[in-house]
Formats: sequence, C-alpha cells, structure tokens
Amino acid sequence: MISEEFDISKIISNLENTQEISDSELEFLIDGNYDTSELFSTSDKVRRRYYGTDVYLRGLIEFTNYCKNNCLYCGIRADNRKAVRYRLDKEKILNCCRKGYELGYRTFVLQGGEDPYFTDDRICNIVSEIHRLYPDCAITLSIGEKSKESYQRYYEAGARRYLLRHETADPKHYSSLHPDSMSCENRKQCLYNLKELGYQTGTGFMVGSPFQTTENIISDIHFMQELQPEMIGIGPYITHFDTPFHEYPNGSVSLTLRLIAILRLLFPYALIPATTSLGTLDPSGREKGLKAGANVVMPNLSPVDVRKKYELYENKICTGEESAQCRGCLERRINSAGFHIVNSVGDCIRNCF
Ligand code: SAH
Repeated sequence: MISEEFDISKIISNLENTQEISDSELEFLIDGNYDTSELFSTSDKVRRRYYGTDVYLRGLIEFTNYCKNNCLYCGIRADNRKAVRYRLDKEKILNCCRKGYELGYRTFVLQGGEDPYFTDDRICNIVSEIHRLYPDCAITLSIGEKSKESYQRYYEAGARRYLLRHETADPKHYSSLHPDSMSCENRKQCLYNLKELGYQTGTGFMVGSPFQTTENIISDIHFMQELQPEMIGIGPYITHFDTPFHEYPNGSVSLTLRLIAILRLLFPYALIPATTSLGTLDPSGREKGLKAGANVVMPNLSPVDVRKKYELYENKICTGEESAQCRGCLERRINSAGFHIVNSVGDCIRNCF
C-alpha cells in the first residue's frame, strides 16, 4: 500500500471525532509507513480529555501458577514440567491486600492459571473476605474461562471486574495458539457472559503472537467494537523457551505503542494498561505506553519469593523487588513521564455518563 493513497491527518481527525475508520485505513494505521507523531499526539490529547493525566493503579496478586491448560505460548502451561509450581493460601493473599492497601492500592487483581484447587467455593470465600475487609476497594478476577454460574457466584461474593483477554478473535489463529480443548467461541462467550452479568470487563491480545497477521488485529478490533469492553490490555508477545513456541520471535514494542494509540482513539473511555510485558521488552516501555494513550499500570503485589515463578514469559521485570519499592519506583517513573498516580478505585468513566 502506498502512503500517498491515504490522508493521514484526515483519517486521524475523523477517528478522533467519530471513532470510525474503514478497514483499509485501519490496516494503513497499523502497518503503513507514515509519520506517527500525529497519531500519538492525538491519542495523548484524547486520553487527557477523558482522564487528564491520571494513572490508575491495580495491585496484581499472582496467586497460583498451576494451570490445567496448555496454551502454546505460555510459560505456566500444564505441560511445562520445568515450571516450579506454587499457590498462595487465603492468609497470604489477604496479606498482599493488607500491604497493598497501606501503599494506597484500591484495586486488587487476583490472577492465576486455571487451577482446579481453587474451586468456586474457595474463590468466593477469598473474594468475600477481601470485600468485607476492604469495602472501599474493587476486586478484579483474572482466572480464565468459567461457567456463567461461576461468574455469577464470584459477582455475588463481591468481584466487580474480570480480565479475560480474548487472545485473538480469529478462530483459525486461535486454534494455532491453543490446544484442541480450547475454543475461540467459548472464550468469546465467556466475555459476553461477563458483560451480561454486569462485570466491568477487560479483554485484549498479545501483539506479535506467532502467526498473527494485520488482518487478525483488525478482527480483534472488530470484536472489541462489538463487545465494548471497559478495559483493553495489550502487550507484546514474549518468547518462553520452555514452550512449543520457543523458536518464535518476540512481538514489537513500536507496533504495541501504535496499537495503544489506535485503541485510545477507537475507545476513548477505555482503561488501557501500560503492561509489564511492554516494560520487559523496553526499559521505558511502560512510560512510552502511557504517552501513547494508556492510563493504567498494574504493579506486582505478589510475595517476592513467588514472583519469579509466575513466569508467563522470559525475563519478566519487577520480580526481585519489594512491593513498596515497586510502588515508589513506578511513581517516580510515572511522574517523570508527566502523569500522576491517583489512589482511587478508578472505575471506567463510561459508567458515570
Ligand atoms: N489464566 C488467566 C490468566 C492468563 S495470564 C486467563 O486465562 O485469562 C494473563 C495474560 O498473559 C494472558 O491472557 C496472555 O495474553 C498473556 N501472556 C501469556 N503468555 C505470554 C507470553 N509468552 N508473552 C506475552 N504475554 C503472555
């Protein structure tokens, strides 16, 4: 495609004003050769219009790395015998919340592999205890695909947000990343169920996952336009050497940044994290993510002795520090990028319209 065919200023201002764009324009924005400064300055302007310079914190508690699934890209897949497995008990999880609360966190994200030990009863017990102890905090779950009934039980226990990346909206691409036991259709159905139950729902995908095409990314965007998620998490795919994908290269930081900017323009109200994987591939990746239009960071609140074990991909950052340092370190980084942390629950503002 030749850049002369497209009027980049017109595409971007139209996108800013109407959130509309054709597929061929989108394709050009994603992988065309053009000066990206206008894309980034406009996404920054839109983020400021909706969220100012506020950055919301989510304290991430990685409470189990046991997983029954075998996603081909993931370091904690069931078949990775080299992964050293752990799970945190309720006391340890509550301890993370207590430390996090003292540090100003008002959202706790419980993330883990799909670990059968954590039955619905156990999850509900933990969620309701956090809810009882910290009624002013939001509880987010990120524990994979469950039945609608299970999601409803978690909601009744006090969970209000759920993160479940769709990973890719294209069924063929999906089956090249996952074992036969998993389906694109079920993952999407889970997301629709979560929305229907009233969860603030987060989805997203890896940038540069093996076999991903620009067409796939356009399908991802269409799927999200239909789902209307409150949160959209994207980060570069990073190779883990103990997976079947050990020979595939990492995703690209610059494409991730472009996509963050495009998503900000398409979903102006969305909560978009500057992800840990972005910070892993580029030391200032998270700051660049914020500048491109992201408005959330998810520091690690897990106990330091398990952090290295929750190894979805190689060389994950922030696995050696205390959570207090994580908070202080990130705050300095965020301030120096021209943003500031707010110690609030940080709901999606679309719900306040
Ligand atoms: N079991 C939960 C949590 C999965 S881990 C669930 O199914 O939702 C959270 C996210 O990490 C995944 O959704 C995936 O997009 C991302 N991830 C996994 N492996 C990765 C890798 N090798 N590189 C980058 N991101 C990865």
